[in-house]
Amino acid sequence: MIPRVTATVDLSALTHNLGIVRKLAPRSRVMAAVKADAYGHGAVPVSRALEQAGVDALAVACLEEAMSLRQARIQAPIALLEGVISGEEAAQAVYEQLQIVVHDHWQIELLERLPDSARLTLWFKLDSGMHRLGFPLADVPRLREVLARHPLWRFAGWITHLACADEPDNPFTREQISRFEAALEGVPGPRSIANSAGLIAWPQTRVDWVRPGLMLYGCSPLPQVSAAALGLRPAMRLESRIIAVREYAAGEGIGYGLSFRCPERMRIGVVAIGYADGMHRAFGNGTPVMVRGRRAYLAGRVSMDMITVDLREVPDAAVGDPVLLWGEGLPAEEIAGWAGTLSYELFCGLTQRVRFRYR
Ligand SMILES: *Cc1c(COP(=O)(O)O)cnc(C)c1O
Repeated sequence: MIPRVTATVDLSALTHNLGIVRKLAPRSRVMAAVKADAYGHGAVPVSRALEQAGVDALAVACLEEAMSLRQARIQAPIALLEGVISGEEAAQAVYEQLQIVVHDHWQIELLERLPDSARLTLWFKLDSGMHRLGFPLADVPRLREVLARHPLWRFAGWITHLACADEPDNPFTREQISRFEAALEGVPGPRSIANSAGLIAWPQTRVDWVRPGLMLYGCSPLPQVSAAALGLRPAMRLESRIIAVREYAAGEGIGYGLSFRCPERMRIGVVAIGYADGMHRAFGNGTPVMVRGRRAYLAGRVSMDMITVDLREVPDAAVGDPVLLWGEGLPAEEIAGWAGTLSYELFCGLTQRVRFRYR
């Protein structure tokens, strides 16, 4: 049986992209973000590849994600970016030797009530201006007292997160960095600031630890800079096939609402992928796909299981031809723009109907 929609993940591209991170930040340790099923690429195979490539740590959102990695015998240090939400979770995190990113005082109380917290490893997350998670910077002295009270706790370091790192002209990033550094002046412990955009666009964020996510999957986090210009290779190729080709006269409408009108006699291909596979319904007429190495363009609405494409640029296209939705030569970042979103969301939106293959 030929799968309808396949996402082929090239694990060597991930390793290559990790190499780009290492080149940019040679003195930093690397914590790779593999949350959300490794941005939809498959957390276990991706983590295994990164672990083999010598990544220093992995980062997930929550305990469940970490547990599935531990069950797959991933041994690398794993950080829980949102920390823990109950005493039970805290106990399990300690048992599995997970690193807990602590962002609030109630979490400290949970940890202090653990019967055995001796092997606990924690980060403290500081809010330097994004105002999502993190302690106010003024809490640093109190947090140092917490550490002093618990000499057996292992302190991994201080984390902050940047709100505008993907905007190279936005001075707020510099502001966040200087607030963070000022609050930690003379305070011991490793620092971590950068996500992908930070580590590419703001060299001063390449401190003790960097935390790339998106760029490891081969996408550029910066709207003005392509992944290719950064030397990144896309890790995923999403493909389906043409299942019908028909010719219509000028003026005929295509698909739901007839939202595309043929401007001339032309061929339309039907491709077996729809929003039930993760093609956003917001993709409009003109969104590119690739057939036989050339671009064809979405013509008509995305439906649940199918899309229709204008084949005028690919006159030899035929039933059975593979169709590339994104991947090498058709960056997911560019495609995402056609749905008013980011490649992050395209990847995370793939559904269980998509067959994954690893190379
Ligand atoms: C997801 C995440 C990252 C990685 O972000 P990218 O933009 O994908 O590089 C880094 N740090 C934190 C706290 C995150 O939640």
